[in-house]
Amino acid sequence: MNNDLYIYNTLSRKKELFVPINPNHAGMYVCGPTVYGDPHLGHARPAITFDLVFRYLQHLGYKVRYVRNITDVGHLESDADEGEDKIAKKARLEELEPMEVVQYFSDRYHEFMGRLNVLKPSIEPRASGHLIEQIAMISKLVEAGIAYESNGSVYFDVEKYNQTKKYGILSGRVLEDLLANTRDLEGQDEKRNSFDFALWKKAQPEHIMRWPSAWSEGFPGWHLECSAMSTKYLGETFDIHGGGMDLMFPHHEAEIAQSTACNHKPPVKYWMHNNMITINGQKMGKSLGNFITLEEFFKGSHPALTQAYSPMTIRFFILQAHYRSQLDFGNEALQAAQKGFDKLMKAMLTIQKIAPQSTSTADIASLEKLCYEALNDDFNSPILIANLFEAVRIVNSAYDGKEKLTAEDISQLKKLFSTFAIEILGLLPEVDPAEGGKVVEGLMKLILEIRANARANKDWATSDRIREELAAVNISVKDTKDGATWSID
Ligand code: ZN
Repeated sequence: MNNDLYIYNTLSRKKELFVPINPNHAGMYVCGPTVYGDPHLGHARPAITFDLVFRYLQHLGYKVRYVRNITDVGHLESDADEGEDKIAKKARLEELEPMEVVQYFSDRYHEFMGRLNVLKPSIEPRASGHLIEQIAMISKLVEAGIAYESNGSVYFDVEKYNQTKKYGILSGRVLEDLLANTRDLEGQDEKRNSFDFALWKKAQPEHIMRWPSAWSEGFPGWHLECSAMSTKYLGETFDIHGGGMDLMFPHHEAEIAQSTACNHKPPVKYWMHNNMITINGQKMGKSLGNFITLEEFFKGSHPALTQAYSPMTIRFFILQAHYRSQLDFGNEALQAAQKGFDKLMKAMLTIQKIAPQSTSTADIASLEKLCYEALNDDFNSPILIANLFEAVRIVNSAYDGKEKLTAEDISQLKKLFSTFAIEILGLLPEVDPAEGGKVVEGLMKLILEIRANARANKDWATSDRIREELAAVNISVKDTKDGATWSID
């Protein structure tokens, strides 16, 4: 089978044949979350996009080292190196240690990515755990004369870099335009040019997260961590760097400049960017009142949602669009995705009930070829899903007796679903609500029996604890003459 994989490279703006630096190995770095808030849709799309890439590369037989970082320091509120550190601000508002904020939201991120069936990366480094590597990189850039110290902070000299290399190759921006478009911001006088970016920031007295360095007590600039950690774990040049389109400038542009100036070679072979999401046609934003967290999606608890949507519905919906297309979340589109997902899952059950025939009217091998072709064409998941629906149609027709399948066809179809839907797209059957209801009934019966025994033994601590724990998940218990009853509030 021809399994040449073509990836759209944002850098060259065309599809290129994937040829990894080391045969049979693939290195991938994806910018992970800045952990200062609850995971939301904006987190789900890049995670699922690069989960598909990770899964497919492994399916093709590559040994993949997938690095996805956690930003826990240095991401300021403004791209112009101004404002508070996002995590420090949250910590101040909540009266917590910054690392408590980091731990809590990292755990939440992992929990929700798990529910979306996103595989864990091979390495998940944190910026605060790589200060030594970042300081070493800054020193190298200062020594090379491409970074300069100013008032205890260190900035990357973009104009100087641009004299020999081209700044803006990824985003297509040119320095002259940047110069014309940047306003003179307050506190920018430390920089030679407004487009220079911070490698190290001197900490203000109230800034909690700080480390010693030759320049000042301070903290690293946000862009630096990805250069330092990708070099450490994947080498000076690695295969794939991914992230959301919004990170292309200045974040990825800065990464390219820092790494190139430091290591004298381009850091990345293939740059991949997923497009943005909108909600009912609008950009998602706190000020727009349409900022929806994943928990709100799963519970249906946001006013913009007419119902709850399961993790698999969200995953399927995201994969139904190509990662380079914009994706609009609206209730109607999500409900259609839910129906589509259910239909796909049902077909996997229906196929178990089909009696094999001696002749065949279907060509499953060709269908499989089309599935591979879709993935090999820059991970075209919507085309892949369309091909899986052709398989669904064949299964349902065969079940209705309108199409004939041999035993061989049936086993090929089962393999098609398990390979493409489950293994590569990461779609999993969810518990049917009716089935789930039976499970809950059984569990509640058991829990209330334990509580009744505790009460009979005058073990009030256990009995109270059960009632409180249930109340915490909105289940209230009432004691009646005939025993305890329960209801969901
Ligand atoms: Zn990054």
